[in-house]
This record gives sequence, structure tokens and C-alpha cells, in this order.
Amino acid sequence: MSEPTILLIEDEAQIRRLVRAALENEDHRVLESGTLKAGLAQLHADAVQLLILDLGLPDGDGIAFIRELRTQFALPVLVLSARSAEGEKIRALDAGADDYLTKPFSTGELLARVRAQLRRAPQEGATAETYCHFGDIKVDLAQRFVTRKNEAVRLTPIEYRLLCAMLAEPGKVLTYRHLLSAVWGKAFVESNHYLRIYVSHLRQKLEDDPAQPKYFLTETGIGYRFQA
Ligand code: CA
Repeated sequence: MSEPTILLIEDEAQIRRLVRAALENEDHRVLESGTLKAGLAQLHADAVQLLILDLGLPDGDGIAFIRELRTQFALPVLVLSARSAEGEKIRALDAGADDYLTKPFSTGELLARVRAQLRRAPQEGATAETYCHFGDIKVDLAQRFVTRKNEAVRLTPIEYRLLCAMLAEPGKVLTYRHLLSAVWGKAFVESNHYLRIYVSHLRQKLEDDPAQPKYFLTETGIGYRFQA
């Protein structure tokens, strides 16, 4: 595969320069737009693997743009915004963003998050996986069977559903609402304490050190993220 193409929609030229330099240093091809309108035209014209999106743009709001984008495009969207309020992050993630980084940011963290998103971007010709591996854990999705160091791990149906919901979107921040709705159903989207309990069960059963999780990560105030 040739180097991934990343589109950056950002109206501040200084940030565009900084992000472009960091990404090109990692051999990514970078396209830039200063407005949503020009960015959308580039998405239609070019095969873009990842969108990095500012929220405050001269011709509109990034969150409404993500919602609109999701009706046409499946590519990962990483929001890069000065809006640090939890509510803004949740709105962006619920609108369909995959990750959120607050300005000012370190280029090291930006690049790590770009790598995580590109890993989960669908590769052409990929077939459906029936196994999922991470660390010593193997999940047989066809048999609904989980092993750790080749020994069976017993999960309750709820624990297994939560595990699958998290595995389905590696690297992506999953909001409480998203997970509660996926595992328990829409009537339970306010029941955050269920998630706390069941994520802790998964950590007890699957993490080497449940107090220092490597796979089932907390995104404080927002939700959780599975990192393989
Ligand atoms: Ca801006």
C-alpha cells in the first residue's frame, strides 16, 4: 500500500504547518484545507484515509460537518480542537468522530493517535476476521470463546457483549452512551455505573494488572477505549 493520505481541515496556517511537518516526517501524504467547503471537495476528489478536523472553521461548525460526513464517508475522523470542555468532546464523538485531541497538543501524541486510527482503517481486500488477538488473549468470535495464555476465560453474556463492543472499534474512544446502548439497550444510556462495574470485570479477567490496564482504557468523563 502506498503512504496514507491525510486531509487536514484547519483555518490556522501555523497549526497546518506544524501538523503537516509532523505527518510528512512519518511519510504521510498531507492535503490541507482552510474551510469545510474546500475540505469536502478534496474528500470527493481524492482517496483520503484519515481526516484531521478543527471544529471552529470560518464557514461552519465541525460537529455538524462530522454528522453530515457520516452519511457519505466511513473514514476515521480525528478532531483537533481548542474546545476542551467535556460536553464538546462528547458531542463530537457522538456525532461520529473517532478520537479527540485538545489544543495545545504534542506532536508525539498526535502522531500516536494518527497511527492508532490508521491501524483500524479498513484495508482494501480485507476479509472478516473470526479471531481477535491482543497480548495473551485470543477471542474466537465464531465460537464465542475466550482464552488467556491458552486457558479458557469464563465471561458472562454481558461481559462478552461488552468485550465485543469494545473490540469492534479498536483505538476509538467509545462514549458511555454508545457502550450502554450497544450492550444493554437504549433504555440504559444513563446507567454509567453498569459500565464501571463490567469494565472492571473485564480488567480483572483479561488484564495482567487490572489497576494499570493496558487494553481497556478509561477516557475520563467520556467513556472507554480498547487499545490492542
Ligand atoms: Ca479554528
